[in-house]
Amino acid sequence: MSQVLAPAAPAAPPLVALSDDEILFRDNVRQFADETIRPKVREMDEKGVFDHAIIDQFFQLGLMGIEIPQQYGGAGGSFFESILAVEETSAVDPSAGVIVDVQNTLVNNALLRWANDEQKKHYLPKMAANTVGAYALSEAGSGSDAFALQTRAQLKGNEYVLNGRKLWITNGKEAGLFVLMATVDPSAGYKGITAFLVEKSFPGFSVGKKEDKLGIRASSTCELILEDCRVPKENVLGEVGKGYKIAIETLNEGRIGIGAQMAGLARGAWEYALRYSQERKQFGKTIADFQGIQFQLAQMATEIEAARMMVYNAARMKDAGMNFVKEAAMTKLFASQVAERVSSLAVEILGGVGFTKDYPVEKYYRDAKIGKIYEGTSNMQLQTIAKLLLSANK
Ligand SMILES: Cc1cc2nc3c(=O)[nH]c(=O)nc-3n(C[C@H](O)[C@H](O)[C@H](O)COP(=O)(O)OP(=O)(O)OC[C@H]3O[C@@H](n4cnc5c(N)ncnc54)[C@H](O)[C@@H]3O)c2cc1C
Repeated sequence: MSQVLAPAAPAAPPLVALSDDEILFRDNVRQFADETIRPKVREMDEKGVFDHAIIDQFFQLGLMGIEIPQQYGGAGGSFFESILAVEETSAVDPSAGVIVDVQNTLVNNALLRWANDEQKKHYLPKMAANTVGAYALSEAGSGSDAFALQTRAQLKGNEYVLNGRKLWITNGKEAGLFVLMATVDPSAGYKGITAFLVEKSFPGFSVGKKEDKLGIRASSTCELILEDCRVPKENVLGEVGKGYKIAIETLNEGRIGIGAQMAGLARGAWEYALRYSQERKQFGKTIADFQGIQFQLAQMATEIEAARMMVYNAARMKDAGMNFVKEAAMTKLFASQVAERVSSLAVEILGGVGFTKDYPVEKYYRDAKIGKIYEGTSNMQLQTIAKLLLSANK
């Protein structure tokens, strides 16, 4: 008797497969990064200032409102496309990558998920058109222990009055809107934390010191000062006392973005090292002719591929509505390790010139370090991964 075979289920596409629209989008961002950002990278790094004209072009290209629906003037794209934009801009300049990342994966994401209709109508068109966003959780005394924050919000009439200081806020210098966490009741612990939509022009709000950093120097990292800062009651994002949930959930998504930043960075460093190795001659041959260099390039490419596939998988899981918390933490942890290893080897492959500012790889190496620190340090990612693994096995 002949065997009856069940009809084959359609094969799931490989992770490297992108749709035609995604390929077009990626190629457009890649070309823009190469032609417009690349020529300015060194100067922006040296000055520690990101060129505002490039940010204007990000808006014109739709890169600052990728997931914002078209009815609000956004591009109506997917989270995966936001991730592609972060990867491609970071391959040229990780400072550019983090501007696009914070805007899309933290600020717009928080608005899309938790803003009410009025807030969406008011803020989403601005975020898509011309307003840079920032995400303000950390303080001097609360980093990894983020919910120990001290910034206080007190309801007085129709306004909340905010007092305190935020530290390390990416896009602080350029931002017009801040998703800012403060507590309405310090005795309630994390249940007092509330998210506010704070505009730069609100009375009592000012931007303080800008940090002088090792890497991503063109990305501004600033202190925020709140001195009797008056925020209309309507500008609470989500519910009072539920800011902790907004913080946790946006950062889960943001971590995939940092994974993309690090995977893009690693690719940028690797591509430069590959080209250099095919030109530089020693012992009468290009250094790429030596097996020692070939093996290093192969190892780097393998790690980049693994990191990128983790980023794509986590992003696809997010777009599919699956639980991606563990995968996001693993992605950020691993991609930041890969970025540091690959950019370090890229410096070595260039030899002496790799150590100078005349070549771009030392910058990738400096920029890589932040991947292990922001949006939760590597230890915090390990803690999340371990907690999920252990609880799943009870
Ligand atoms: C360039 C830059 C940009 C940033 N952008 C933003 C931003 O836009 N918005 C924002 O809100 N924040 C931002 N941050 C803040 C960033 O998220 C914090 O720096 C980070 O979470 C670490 O906090 P911390 O610096 O206080 O370090 P700490 O929490 O003091 O950690 C110091 C060390 O102790 C370790 N550690 C702490 N607790 C534990 C534990 N329980 N177990 C094991 N190890 C532990 C950490 O892993 C780390 O190695 C930014 C920081 C930088 C440097």
